[in-house]
Formats: sequence, structure tokens, C-alpha cells
Amino acid sequence: MRGLTRPTMMAERIWEVDLEALWERGVRGVLLDLDNTLVDWNAEELRPPVRAWVEAAKQRGLRLCLVSNALYGRRVKRVAKELGIACVVRAGKPLPRAFRRGMALLDTDATCTCAIGDQVFTDLVGANWLGLATVLLAPLTPKESPHTRLIRLLERPLRRRWKGERGGRPGEEGAPRG
Ligand SMILES: [Mg+2]
Repeated sequence: MRGLTRPTMMAERIWEVDLEALWERGVRGVLLDLDNTLVDWNAEELRPPVRAWVEAAKQRGLRLCLVSNALYGRRVKRVAKELGIACVVRAGKPLPRAFRRGMALLDTDATCTCAIGDQVFTDLVGANWLGLATVLLAPLTPKESPHTRLIRLLERPLRRRWKGERGGRPGEEGAPRG
């Protein structure tokens, strides 16, 4: 069984996630984290390459949904509206329920859904538990909550190991499962 923390794929930035690679794996729905994945922590401004990636993903036929634990649902809804995608607010990741809610909105199941985010213990564990494909990104900016900064201490050795297994080349297909 695949470890619950291990991502299927890694990339530095959302716009480096290969849409064709996702499609080829059978992915049709994508559950996206918000803070430090699509926007800076606690911000709303969308960088041009983020907009372009979302647009390209939609063009490719992927269904997208924001799944965010952010305290203020209004901010999440505004970003989702601006991107023209669905959203789950106060999702409660890493609970599997958070990802199930997203899949329900997209009308996809675990076999054809991928979760993308910048935090191992929030964005990956619940999704891996359900058997989704997962993509781990580097956080967009170093700014984040004190709570997240603590959790990063636990992430660090895992990220280092995975990067080593991939020869340090981001965006490459994940290491063998197991
Ligand atoms: Mg995040």
C-alpha cells in the first residue's frame, strides 16, 4: 500500500503540473488547494500563469474544484468565481470527507480525481487515503500561518527524501509506489 503522505507526482508550481500527464493517467477531476497553491497565503490575487493553467485545464476538459480550509469562505468563493470553478469552503482537510465533497461537486470518483496542494499533512493524506492521485507543490511563498510553519518541520525530511528519489528533478513522475 502506498504511504499516506507520499504524492503521486511532485512539481514546484501549479503551472508546471503537466495537464497531459494528468489526462493520460485518467484524471478528469482536480481538487485544488487555495493558499500557497493558487494564491499567496491569505491573499486573492491570481498570478497570470495560475490563470493560464486553470484556463488550459478547463480547455483540456478537466473539471476543477477549490477545496480549502481557509477560515473565511468568502475569499475562497471569490477566487472560485473569478476562475469559474466549483468550491468547497471550510473543507476540513485532511478528513476524507473534504475530498468526497469536492468529488461530489465534480461528479467524479477516486479513480479519476487528483488532489493538488502544497501541504503534505493537509492536502495529501486524506486524498491518498481515498486512493486519489496526488500532486505536491512547493509553497508559492514563504509566508504562512505559524501553525503551518510548525507542520513544515515534519514535512521537510519527507520532501527531501522524495526529491532525492527523483534525482531532484521537479515535475517528474513519482517514485515507485509502496
Ligand atoms: Mg495550502
